[in-house]
Amino acid sequence: MLIPIPLDIADVKVEKIDRSTEQGFVITVISELKGTECKRCGKPIDKFYGYSGEITLRHLSIFEKPVWLKIKPKRYQCPYCDNGPTTTQTCSWYDSKSPHTKAYEQSLLRELINSTITDVSMKRGIGEAAIEGLLNRHINQQVEWPKIGAIPLLGIDEIALKKGHKDFVVIVSAINARGEKQILAVLPDRKKDTVKAFLAAIPTPQKKTIQRACVDMYEGYSNAVYEALPGVAVIVDRFHVAKNYRGCADKARRQEMQALKKTLPDEKYAELKGVMWVFRKRWADLTEEQQVQLLMLFSYAPVLQQVYILREVLTGIFNKPLTKAQAVIELNAWIVRVQELGLKCFDAFVGTLQKWMDEISNYFIQRQSSGFVEGLNNKIKVIKRRCYGIYDLIRKILQLGEANKLNEARW
Ligand SMILES: [Zn+2]
Repeated sequence: MLIPIPLDIADVKVEKIDRSTEQGFVITVISELKGTECKRCGKPIDKFYGYSGEITLRHLSIFEKPVWLKIKPKRYQCPYCDNGPTTTQTCSWYDSKSPHTKAYEQSLLRELINSTITDVSMKRGIGEAAIEGLLNRHINQQVEWPKIGAIPLLGIDEIALKKGHKDFVVIVSAINARGEKQILAVLPDRKKDTVKAFLAAIPTPQKKTIQRACVDMYEGYSNAVYEALPGVAVIVDRFHVAKNYRGCADKARRQEMQALKKTLPDEKYAELKGVMWVFRKRWADLTEEQQVQLLMLFSYAPVLQQVYILREVLTGIFNKPLTKAQAVIELNAWIVRVQELGLKCFDAFVGTLQKWMDEISNYFIQRQSSGFVEGLNNKIKVIKRRCYGIYDLIRKILQLGEANKLNEARW
């Protein structure tokens, strides 16, 4: 069965589609755009002067198969300049310096948010150098403001580059009510002044539409927003919060495992092989066998049981449909629990949570996130599973006669 798929690029006619390779589609297109601007004098010219060599551009995949567009750019001769220089036409949907279409570059940039260059490189089969080249090309590029409508939510995300390069680039994006993201700019560094200068330069009509800004927990970003966009609420993405507290839990597990390596007999320790992945997962996502292994770890290192439960409870708070005020109460109660239990591993996170409480709890107002990590559709399903997961864990612990520990934890 055949279905028509729009290529989403302007001013072209499809000449042929080559599906002969298993790797993907090669689509040859012809520009229907007439004329260009002379590269020397800038005047519009339309005296056709043949085609230049064919170029190949990577475009958005179709059914996960890569698509390449081939085009022979048109050339035009200038009747005004001396010696009649020729200029090659560039269509609006690609950049003459790039091996990708603009739509494809946007999709790569979006994918880089909350990911790493290495991950995206591997996933897309593109060299890391090419991805860095893409980021560099987008740095300081002019924003076509008239094409960008209202910006209800602004996203400020960073991408850590490889060591030895500039540390970070910052991606500023506009996110609409459907969660669709449009990249506004790639900034060369994460200095407050860099971010603030960009935000201050947003045209006034669009500035007025900005209601919230979703940022990473870094004062350079929040202060840039507070100073350049007064009145805009700053939200810390729950993804960044989760990364932080999950890191704390992981660190505790590593420390306990090191201690167990010294104290447990070798064959007992060997039974904990692979428990790192098990510990990182939600209870409900584990197989029966993995659950048994995790409970075995808890029996050797009871503190990890508390760490694990508190980590999951925190995730549960973010999944609950709370108001901002309710969230603040629950998050503070969580802090009290951690302190009562004396769980040192969360100390650094508690400090962060207290410092950013306002911005973190702002998440509960609209439940917006700048990343793609959470699909809204899945949310309700996930909440159900998480709750089930925790009760199921408690039930198993009870079955194992560890009720005393549970009482101690007051669940
Ligand atoms: Zn000219």
